[in-house]
Amino acid sequence: MRGVIGSIVCVGAAVGSCLRSPRKIGAPILLLLMQACSGSNGSGDEQGGAPDRDLAYERVRMVEVQLAGRGIRDEGVLEAMRNVRRHRFAPGLDPARAYEDRPHPIGHGQTISQPYIVGLMSEAAHLRPPCRVLEVGTGSGYQAAVLAEMGCTVYTIEIVEALASQSSEILAREGYGEQVHGRAGDGYYGWPEAAPFDAVIVTAAAPRLPEELLEQLTVGGRLVIPVGDIWQVLEVHRRTEEGYERSELSGVRFVPMTGEIRQGR
Ligand code: SAH
Repeated sequence: MRGVIGSIVCVGAAVGSCLRSPRKIGAPILLLLMQACSGSNGSGDEQGGAPDRDLAYERVRMVEVQLAGRGIRDEGVLEAMRNVRRHRFAPGLDPARAYEDRPHPIGHGQTISQPYIVGLMSEAAHLRPPCRVLEVGTGSGYQAAVLAEMGCTVYTIEIVEALASQSSEILAREGYGEQVHGRAGDGYYGWPEAAPFDAVIVTAAAPRLPEELLEQLTVGGRLVIPVGDIWQVLEVHRRTEEGYERSELSGVRFVPMTGEIRQGR
């Protein structure tokens, strides 16, 4: 797992406490804080002009404003998202833009999910290490990295082969190669050899619930999945001794789940 963000910690804490009520901050103060950060904490380049900035300050700010500011409370999730270098998972995108409050295209008609949605799904999965998670829809690999950073062993499946291999390279480069097991294929069938999982997170929209995934949960485990057509509802299905309990989180918009789920039954 990646360590805490080095020398930003004191600066980040100060910024964090300010940003807890973002509307009260005057723009000049925020600007000063941003300058202080990029000048002294490694998110900028002290030698002048290294092409790859660490962008730690952008992550602290993303977490405060987009996640904590909207009610995400799980400190394991917040800390993981302060640490995973999101911009590394969207090659080709201007690095600072990776921290914007929106999804971004990653090629092959797919997207890296909006930070808030990654936070929401990760929190809804209720994970504490040591945890085992299945993700369906690796895409950029970012969600998988966040789950690994939370201390979980992650199994992740991607139906587009080019994305499966690209994300596996990036995950290895970012230090998650041992914790994340990836494969190319249709996630509809889950990963029975590695089951049961404490959570299954599906990051593509399913027209109906894939029953096979429910069966791969531990008792107490949760399936987090967007269900619907163009707009979906983010559903959570918790396995109990007797069956499953269903709850709804919010309206969402994901790219469609493809493959077997689209076949009539
Ligand atoms: N979790 C990703 C978001 C990926 S977008 C991230 O953090 O970036 C959804 C992904 O699901 C796409 O890459 C798409 O190709 C993939 N997908 C769609 N249907 C799938 C299926 N049946 N099995 C596995 N992956 C699927």
